[in-house]
Order: sequence, then structure tokens, then C-alpha cells
Amino acid sequence: MTHYIDGRWVDGAGADSIKVFDPALGEPFAELQAASAAQVDQAISAAREALPAWKGLDVARRAGYLRGFAEQLGLRREELIALQMRNNGKPRHEAEVDLDDAVATFAYYADLIEQQARKDPGVALAAPGFTARTRLEPVGVVGLIVPWNFPLVTSAWKLAPALAAGCTVVLKPSEITPLIEQSYGQIAETLGLPAGVLNIVVGKAETGIALSNHNGLDKLSFTGSNTVGSQVMRSASAQCRPVTLELGGKSAIVVFDDCDLDQAVEWIVAGICWNAGQMCSATSRLLIQDGIADALLARLAVALDSLRVGNPLTEDVDMGPLTSQGQWLKVAAYFAVAKEEGLTCLAGGQPLDRSGWFVSPTLYADVPAHSRLWVEEIFGPVLCSQRFSTEQEAIDLANDSRFGLVATVVSRDLQRAERVADALEVGHVWINSIQAVFVETSWGGTKGSGIGRELGPWGLSAYQSVKHVTRCLG
Ligand code: NAD
Repeated sequence: MTHYIDGRWVDGAGADSIKVFDPALGEPFAELQAASAAQVDQAISAAREALPAWKGLDVARRAGYLRGFAEQLGLRREELIALQMRNNGKPRHEAEVDLDDAVATFAYYADLIEQQARKDPGVALAAPGFTARTRLEPVGVVGLIVPWNFPLVTSAWKLAPALAAGCTVVLKPSEITPLIEQSYGQIAETLGLPAGVLNIVVGKAETGIALSNHNGLDKLSFTGSNTVGSQVMRSASAQCRPVTLELGGKSAIVVFDDCDLDQAVEWIVAGICWNAGQMCSATSRLLIQDGIADALLARLAVALDSLRVGNPLTEDVDMGPLTSQGQWLKVAAYFAVAKEEGLTCLAGGQPLDRSGWFVSPTLYADVPAHSRLWVEEIFGPVLCSQRFSTEQEAIDLANDSRFGLVATVVSRDLQRAERVADALEVGHVWINSIQAVFVETSWGGTKGSGIGRELGPWGLSAYQSVKHVTRCLG
């Protein structure tokens, strides 16, 4: 049984058959049938029916369910780590981080909704003779559409705040990693979450379209590509419905000449090779200050060449395969474009000669600003570099992108690093660090990287509607 609708597991009635692959072998290990449009409709109806009771439930009880999700994820730890390794191709330590992140997200929103409920709702009015109070109400029935690169995490970032706020939800996982989110349905069942509060429908684009076009939703939160994001936004605009969009990136890592070179190499490699570069936040544009450029590029090439790339289930690896054949073909096509453009390749630049969807960690030097590899999101372990001389030049180069998700700044001069961070047109900047994401800080981008924020209190308010009640005392 594949789809979790109104508290029951049902088989798919949709036209699409979905094969679930082990990307390290390039072989399927499961097959399921997508949900039909009628099943999406049933899921939305169930969520609508469940809404009054769920939003009316005492906040402590809602928070209790969220803590239950955190606890149950912990109990399924080994199973979920193994599944992410097998279906996503994640090395074990990365799969562990994802699991921990999902647990922390549910625990955080359980606490946050209780803290919010304890706050005085009164509004201080300058005008005499009136009182006013604030009510934060759930936006209602929300559709959640997520991609495949961090299935456990992206879904937790939506599910936990939505459920905490009192929304009921229909989640559509990616067809590439549909099994991982089924665990959220199994946990809901174990916890006795009221039927219809959480519904899960698996499918390809057709299922996503049925969900995002449906007029029974009050909001849609989408994480994925810009192409699909703009379609989702069109559906939302046709119905004047709010939408949160977490989209792509082409983020910069800016390295100044006062840095520790070895440390910089470590952060640069992590920023492009974590999850085999399949990260919206991959720092895929490397900006190096002139004085250290040659030395840094030389060390980087060695570091990338020496990464252990292989099957995370059978080998001790630093980087696994790309998660899908489609992604592998896409990255391979960029290698061909790089050759056509005559780019200077210092490491990698080709698929690995073995079965499964592997590519080598890749570094191109002095990539022109008009190169497709400099401009477009590749979503693989492909790093492009340029040189800069002044701080302002670095800022201008970093900001010269249609995306604005994240950036990293590496410098021993902390005042300069903070100054540069302030000038970067992105949603999150890391200074001298790996991409540490904390549930208390926000996630989301500027420009083409999306609309809205997840995580922190902003992630909760994305599922809340503000109401004020004003009373005349006279
Ligand atoms: P995608 O847009 O192809 O698919 C995302 C989801 O949308 C999947 O569940 C898919 O089935 C569904 N979908 C496909 N067509 C649809 C349609 N027409 N209508 C509604 N739903 C549809 O993206 P992907 O390849 O799964 O993920 C990679 C992209 O996601 C990258 O661009 C990456 O940057 C982005 N991403 C962004 C963030 C972020 O937080 N900003 C996080 C992770 C991934």
C-alpha cells in the first residue's frame, strides 16, 4: 500500500508506474503505482474534514503529536538511514545528519507552538478606549510538494510547522524517493494522529499538478526547480492563493587571501560535494582572491581527486552517486558543454566508468561569466571558479546571479567577513563554516531562489494567518 489517505493505506489508482532505484547500482528495488487525481481529491477532502478538530485541539496535544514524530523518527533511525543510503545514494554520515535534522525540526516546532500559545496576545494601542488582541490561526488545508535530494528533511521542514500551526496537509513526495516519506504516514498511524490530518500521495508531475491546481487548498508550499515552481505559482495566482516557493540556487563561496588554505579547501569541498552536489545551497561558484588563486586551485584539485566516490552501502565513501539517471545525464551534458566552451578542467569532468550513476568531483578554473556552467544550476559536484582582486569586486561577482539562496565567506578578517555578508543578496550567509543549518535560523532565498522562509519562527508563520480582534471599551 502506497498512499496514506484519511488514515488508511491505499494502492495507487493513477496511470503512472513508479520504479524506485538504487542509484549506486542503477537498478530498481521497488515499484509502485501513482495516486490518481481522484485520490488527490480524496486526500484534500479528508484534510478539509479533519481541519476543524485539529485546529481546535489543545496546543499541548498538538505539540505532543509533534514530539511523538521526533521520538518515532529516532526509533526508526537505522531503517531510515539505510533507506536514504539506498535510495538517495547518501554516505552514512550524511544520512545520519538528515535524520537528526528531521528529529530536531519536530522537537523545535513542538516547543515553539507552546511558547507562542503562552504569549500575551494583547496589542498595546495608542488610542484610548479600545483593546485589541492577536490570534494566529492556521491557514487551513495546505498542499506540500517536495523534491528528492533531502526527502526526510524538506518534508519535516514543512510538516512540522504546518501541523504545529493547526493546518491539515496533503504531502506529495518526489517520485524518485517516494518510500522515505511513507515513514511519516506510518508514524502518524502509530501515534494515532486523527485521520485526515496528514495525507500522503505519491506520484509524478500529474499528481503534483492535480494537487497544485486543486481549488480545495488554502495554501501550497513547494520546494523544487524554478521551472515547476513558476507553474505552481501560476496555479496559485489563478486562485489568489498564498504560496511558499523554495527553489534553486547558484551560490557563491568567497575566499579571501588571508584564509587558512587547508581549512578553506575543506569548506569548499563540503560546499560542492555534500550530497554529491545535489543541494539547492551548493556553493558552486568559487571566488578566489588573486594572491592565493593558483595555490588554492592546486590544493583543491588534489582534494577533489582524492575523494572516495562509491556505493555507500558497500564501501567507505566520501561521496555517493547522483540520485537519479536523469540527474546523471544532466550533469554529463554539462561536462559536454564545458568541453564545447573550452573550459579549463582541473579535476574530474566526466562520469565514472562503472555501473550506477556516478560522476567525478569536478573543478573548472577561470570560468567566464557568460559560461552556462557559471550561470545555471547544475545540481552535481561541479565547481566553477573565478578570481577577484578587491572586496567590492567579490561582492559584485557573487551578487551577479538570478538566484540568491546562500553564500559562504572565508576570511580571517572578521569585520570584513561580516561586511561582505551584509552586502550579499541571499537568504543565508555562512562565515568560516560549513553549511551549518540550524532549525532556529531561517531558510529561503532572494531573487529567483524563492518566496518566503522556512525554519525558525518564520517557518511557523508561513502556516499561520494573523487575525486581530478589536473591542471598544465605551
Ligand atoms: P522538480 O521541480 O522537478 O520536482 C519537485 C517536485 O515537484 C516533485 O515532487 C515533482 O514530482 C513535483 N512536480 C513535477 N512537476 C510538477 C508540476 N508540473 N506541478 C506540480 N508538481 C510537480 O525538482 P527536483 O528535481 O525534484 O528537485 C531539484 C530542485 O529542487 C533544484 O532546483 C533544487 O535547487 C531545488 N531545491 C530547493 C531547495 C530549497 O530549499 N530552496 C531545497 C531542495 C531542492
